[in-house]
Amino acid sequence: MPSSPVWYPYTPMQNLPEPPLVESGQGAWIHLADGRKLLDATSAWWCLIHGYRHPTLDAALHEQIDQLSHVMLGGLSHEPAQQLARKLVEITPPGLEQVFFSDSGSVGIEVAMKMAVQYQLQNGQPQRTRLLSVMRAYHGDTSGCMALCDPEEGMHQLFTGWLQPHHFTPAPRAAFDAPADDPLLQEDLALLEASFARHHESLAAFIVEPLLQAAGGFNMYSPLWLQEVRRLCDDYGVLLIFDEIATGFGRTGSLFACEQAQVSPDIMVLSKGLTGGYLGLAATLATQKIFEGFYGGPERAFMHGPTFMGNPLACRVALASIQVFEEEDYLNKIARLNQVLHEELDDFSAPGVQATRVLGATGVIEVTHPELLKGLSGYALNQGVWLRSFGSYVYTMPSYVITPEELREITRVMKDYFRQK
Ligand SMILES: *Cc1c(COP(=O)(O)O)cnc(C)c1O
Repeated sequence: MPSSPVWYPYTPMQNLPEPPLVESGQGAWIHLADGRKLLDATSAWWCLIHGYRHPTLDAALHEQIDQLSHVMLGGLSHEPAQQLARKLVEITPPGLEQVFFSDSGSVGIEVAMKMAVQYQLQNGQPQRTRLLSVMRAYHGDTSGCMALCDPEEGMHQLFTGWLQPHHFTPAPRAAFDAPADDPLLQEDLALLEASFARHHESLAAFIVEPLLQAAGGFNMYSPLWLQEVRRLCDDYGVLLIFDEIATGFGRTGSLFACEQAQVSPDIMVLSKGLTGGYLGLAATLATQKIFEGFYGGPERAFMHGPTFMGNPLACRVALASIQVFEEEDYLNKIARLNQVLHEELDDFSAPGVQATRVLGATGVIEVTHPELLKGLSGYALNQGVWLRSFGSYVYTMPSYVITPEELREITRVMKDYFRQK
């Protein structure tokens, strides 16, 4: 039995070894209570984009805490929320004009779904109550979100009969750089079109993680597929939701992944990197068209309002995070990390390794069987690297302050694990 009553996530609790106790962190490094230091390959579940203890973010929080830690957003407002909403409208793709805040990625997705469905219900399309999601998708752990995750390979198969029924289209298979006449891409597009043709009458919205299906297996797919999604949504009167919780803030090489396909959604959800990983916060952005669908008397109000929505500390640190991202030219840093990942992973092969993939500041080794990765975390820990595999994937999504040398240390451990087996 572990020595505390903390219940850990996605973790078999039987025979659980005592998890390493973290005392502090600095840059890309986690400092353990026993004096060891670990290079963090995961940026704390992909959110700590500036690493640990960034001075500008720390200072912003200290300042804000001396002024206002929290106040309800129902009926009241405050500068940090207003400034952040304006900033997000400025930096996100064209058309997104209104911002609804909540407190975590999953809740941000719940807000997006509810917004899409309420929009259809009160704008003459009451039969449009389902969503079309994509196989290999991951959109969060609350029950609404679970119903949008891959129903076969996802983490929630056990609950299938209990969840809301939605529709699924096959995951795109044509790679990120597939040419327009790639036969696999043509097949992907045909399958997508067939799903729309079959289900469009009941669809409120289509939801997808642009360019990179993250927790569903690091599927890095063609921007052309995303362009076709936009076209089909327009043709069939279906709203388009982009889940940029994992991809937003540079992870795929551009500020938002959808920029690389030059398409804008009707609704977009941001979280993870939004506060530099310091505090829970999500933003669900919507177009003017959606907003106008809610414009009216009490019967048109959007029926949602989490207690901690727009928390001033979270908004303030998000503003500081975006400021650092812009002022320190993070896209350039990310391009350098991308080059290192390509150099280190593109030609790697070893027994059991099926493929390697790189996009932006994301590098992945896919293996043929998940069992091959059983000893990985322990091996990496002994080498001073915090690396977690899941399913058949070893990945790194580091903070962007990591140096090329530190990143090479992570990829060395990722590769050496297979060499020493
Ligand atoms: C992490 C994640 C979520 C859920 O966010 P939480 O803050 O963990 O609730 C949703 N969608 C994607 C793409 C994610 O990566």
